[in-house]
Amino acid sequence: MINLDNQFAIDADVAKVIARLRLFIVNGKLKDVQDKPEDVVVSCPFHNGGQEEHGSCFVRKKDGVYHCFGCGAKGPFVRFVAACLNSSDDYAKSWLLKNFGGEAIERPMIMGDDIKLPQFGVKQGDRIDQAELDQYLTWTPYLAQRKLSRDICEFFKVRYDPKHRQVIFPVHDPKGRLVMLAKRSIDTKTFYLDKDVEKPIYCLDYVERNGFTTAMITEGPFDCLTGWEYGYPTIATLGKMSDNQIDQLNKSSIRVLYLAFDNDDAGRSFAATLKRKLAKHIMAVDVRLPKNKKDINDLTKEELDEAIKKSRESIS
Ligand SMILES: [Zn+2]
Repeated sequence: MINLDNQFAIDADVAKVIARLRLFIVNGKLKDVQDKPEDVVVSCPFHNGGQEEHGSCFVRKKDGVYHCFGCGAKGPFVRFVAACLNSSDDYAKSWLLKNFGGEAIERPMIMGDDIKLPQFGVKQGDRIDQAELDQYLTWTPYLAQRKLSRDICEFFKVRYDPKHRQVIFPVHDPKGRLVMLAKRSIDTKTFYLDKDVEKPIYCLDYVERNGFTTAMITEGPFDCLTGWEYGYPTIATLGKMSDNQIDQLNKSSIRVLYLAFDNDDAGRSFAATLKRKLAKHIMAVDVRLPKNKKDINDLTKEELDEAIKKSRESIS
């Protein structure tokens, strides 16, 4: 049990919390993590801008209290988490409660043991040279307009091609091979997919590698990454769903699927088709968006939490 303050405690394993932190931060912190019997020893998030190569900060498994032998920093677990997230203590506390002790609505989303990152790096069978991504920019303010953070964009290697004014989303097949760069014009909103390759489900490889059994499904990549941004494992069809994609889904680790397609006739038709073709072992749950909202990307985190909560209530 880790006490967050006089009032709140979470029943979580320090090593798991740190693993989850490593999933969500891409600020270079927690580079080195060693699991010892009494402590998790990590790169100290307090000194040297958190960029220490080798761990010197001991986080006690029993209660999360940390002590760094490099800089002498010590204190409660909440402060350690805040330093990793570059946040206030209050935010760190709510993050911990939400992810490890919070309301039931987020329970099914909690990560398992080991965090496996998306498989970037050259692999046999890649259709696309990963180096192609390097020629593009890693950030453009347009991404912030679409509510995406630099962390999430870096995590999923979203890129921007200033010449063609397109946002680029690397798409992997279920085996984790980079097979397609989905491109979307920021002016015309036109979406370009490589016609020569069978369209995978965006981010499904990542859901699979982590063994998530609950996920949300959307149409477009911006909605998908908004899902991740708000803490929900999410996949995207990249437009109309193909039979091959449905097959991938039916063979995946997913058992509960939140349908969060666009709030229009096309979106409702996608949902109906998918429900018809979805294997019996997968439970589909409709997420109803507020009337005036077009898609997930239009929602704040609070609005999405509320929509998911309501959709869960409708089935129980
Ligand atoms: Zn330190």
